[in-house]
Amino acid sequence: MKLLEERIQKDGKIRNGGAVLKVDSFLNHQIDVKLYNEIGKEFFRLFGDEKVTKILTIEASGIGIACIAGQYFDVPVIFAKKSKSKNIDGSVYTSKVESFTHGKVYDIIVAREFLGPEDRVLLIDDFLANGSALNGLIQVVKSAGATLVGAGICVEKAFQPGGDLIRGQGIRVESLARIESMSETEGVTFC
Ligand code: 5GP
Repeated sequence: MKLLEERIQKDGKIRNGGAVLKVDSFLNHQIDVKLYNEIGKEFFRLFGDEKVTKILTIEASGIGIACIAGQYFDVPVIFAKKSKSKNIDGSVYTSKVESFTHGKVYDIIVAREFLGPEDRVLLIDDFLANGSALNGLIQVVKSAGATLVGAGICVEKAFQPGGDLIRGQGIRVESLARIESMSETEGVTFC
């Protein structure tokens, strides 16, 4: 998606020796709602004929994007919660996610009442790096016995293994900007 690529070139900031792209000024701290709207529209263009019944994302940065997309699909948006509780009971689906940005492993939970075998689920997230967040969501969809339609990602860091790992499972992943390489001196190169 040209618009997103141009915005990354203009306002993205590369940190941690080329490992992290900060998009805080337009995507996941301060939010450019018009850009979110174009992103939501694009996800609908890509997945609109898939009879999606639920959009599933993960808190916090996926929520806004998923909500805008949800308006186009006209379906509910569920966000997986990051749980600190040790007593996770049977009323939730759960799986584990390793945070790329913080390095910690945490549980994610989704209440069983919101997802079931009748659902066709589109996953949405802001970034795809090692694939842990997406894998956690995929496990939740599997536990629910729901059908996974695919995943819509804003920014895929294609130099990290997540995209290949998830596509390798036969899952459709559509990334609006795919970064081939990035460095603090050379900037960002798209695939
Ligand atoms: P993964 O689980 O695929 O390794 O990482 C995906 C999650 O980590 C995303 O939900 C996102 O919040 C965060 N993330 C991964 N890489 C980056 C990055 O370069 N920049 C930002 N802002 N977030 C990232």
